[in-house]
Amino acid sequence: MSSTRRAVAVLLACLLVAPAQAWGPLGHSVVAELAQRHLSPAAEAEVERLLAPEHTRSLAGIANWADQIQDDPTQDALWQQTRGQHYINFRGGSDCDYVPPRDCRDGRCVVAALQHYVGVLGDRSQPDSARREALKFVVHLVGDVHQPLHAGYRDDKGGNTYQVQFEGKGSNLHKVWDSGMLRTRGLEWQAYARQLDSPVPVALPTPVAPLGNPYAQWAEESCRITAGAGFYPDGHDIGPAYVRAELPLAERRLREGGRHLAEVLNLALTR
Ligand SMILES: [Zn+2]
Repeated sequence: MSSTRRAVAVLLACLLVAPAQAWGPLGHSVVAELAQRHLSPAAEAEVERLLAPEHTRSLAGIANWADQIQDDPTQDALWQQTRGQHYINFRGGSDCDYVPPRDCRDGRCVVAALQHYVGVLGDRSQPDSARREALKFVVHLVGDVHQPLHAGYRDDKGGNTYQVQFEGKGSNLHKVWDSGMLRTRGLEWQAYARQLDSPVPVALPTPVAPLGNPYAQWAEESCRITAGAGFYPDGHDIGPAYVRAELPLAERRLREGGRHLAEVLNLALTR
């Protein structure tokens, strides 16, 4: 195959496997790259060591693996076991308080998954293979929990069943937040991350309580965003006015995701 034809084949394969149930690849890569830029030297060295057997040494290079396994028949068991870990469904009616027995039955939600994988990642007595897999999940799931509709309401499956018109086509609100709005910038992930990165720390609405459960807090923040006025578009129509109002919010969540991911990794990998 010529290199051009091979490039086209790879591009088509990428388009075919583009997942529809998470920040799209763009959002996950941006969050990962934002974190990469703020790793401590010790954490960065440990990331590189753990990722040595992979095809990449960067967080962006592994940020989408947890979604991509759904298209790999050899990983089907792992996908079935972990697919419920990418989100949490709250009860609805503006109730965004995390109540584990109600909102995370059997530990099957993004909050419990993060608690588990961050624990494995930070545990030096675990084999590298387990810590490497935990790193891949942590990088992905910190991104997901910051996508507001990954912590939305059970009734509409986090916006997945809320149909909308976007760019002249039928879509759903979840998809538009995963990738549609971000794509309107027309930026590749490297340029997007550069643009969102800021030398001044982002002012977060609420500080992370050191003794609290930061993952639950991030999920609750996401949920409260979905409860905000105008989040569900009038007439199920997403036009330029909606994107102007909501894209800055999506980008704030990417920034916060990147910053939180760096904090988690710096803590877990610098012990
Ligand atoms: Zn996901």
